[in-house]
Amino acid sequence: MEVKLFSIELYMKQEPNNRLIKQTCIVTGASSGIGSAVAIAMAAEGANVVINYHSDKEGAEKTASTIDKLSNAGSTIIVQADVSKEKDVERLFKKAKTQFGTIDIFVANAGIQIDAPIHEMKLEDWEKVLSVNLTSHFLCAKLALNTFMEQGVRTDVSRSAGKFIHMSSVHEVIPWSGHANYAASKGGMAMLMQSICQGYAKYKIRCNSIAPGAIKTDINKEVWQDEEKLKSLHKLIPYEEMGVPEHIGNVASWLASDASEYINGTTIFVDGGMTCYPGFSMNG
Ligand code: NAD
Repeated sequence: MEVKLFSIELYMKQEPNNRLIKQTCIVTGASSGIGSAVAIAMAAEGANVVINYHSDKEGAEKTASTIDKLSNAGSTIIVQADVSKEKDVERLFKKAKTQFGTIDIFVANAGIQIDAPIHEMKLEDWEKVLSVNLTSHFLCAKLALNTFMEQGVRTDVSRSAGKFIHMSSVHEVIPWSGHANYAASKGGMAMLMQSICQGYAKYKIRCNSIAPGAIKTDINKEVWQDEEKLKSLHKLIPYEEMGVPEHIGNVASWLASDASEYINGTTIFVDGGMTCYPGFSMNG
């Protein structure tokens, strides 16, 4: 079974909304899975897109070439950067600004999992996951906030000065014992996101999270490639199927647009009902 990266036909069939025209969006980890779908969905709304990748240049090029097929997409650039490193993040912003002049939307999507039971987890694996999944969000948000405040509201393109979107997970609320580093990074992200909203909404900056449930990507291919594991995963999803990256892309492009203007400081769960505790449907 192969991951269906993106159904370009979906966007080809739709009338373009152009809700993000003249806006620039940076998406981290956009060489695969959810990041790639988010980059494509933003472009389908007319945005210029900065496609960040860590090591999969070919994947980043694939995202860019899909975007090229869209009639109304803005321009794209591809930038390599390790988002857990401050110097790399600074270079990413610099390249985006030099190319497009403004940055209007930032999607902090890059994330990893290194799993182990807590009593066996190595400190370096704890630190690595926290650094890629959470510290990177602080580094990116810091630069994005400075950029958004400096730019102010560009009334001809959006009613907000900037939109920051964190890619969280249902594990910002569902504990995950065999993956405590991952769950802690996503739980911490919720507090970072809300603190940003609390402090910077007055500048007309919006900061929200998207919390995907089980979305078919490389990060969880060990599960969906195994029929038995997939069956037991379905038991955790009231909708009884895994999501696809486009489900997240569509929510992200809407969340970046003025259609969701008054949403600030919240997490949107896109999970087929996973956070509704399906195990309790028959009295637990
Ligand atoms: P994925 O493995 O396809 O994507 C992760 C991306 O992050 C990859 O492109 C990878 O190269 C990039 N990345 C990793 N380390 C990086 C670094 N240091 N600098 C820059 N980029 C880096 O998996 P995905 O499912 O598309 O995951 C994307 C995000 O969605 C992650 O934050 C993940 O936690 C979150 N998420 C995924 C699911 C799911 O079911 N797939 C569920 C909840 C949350």
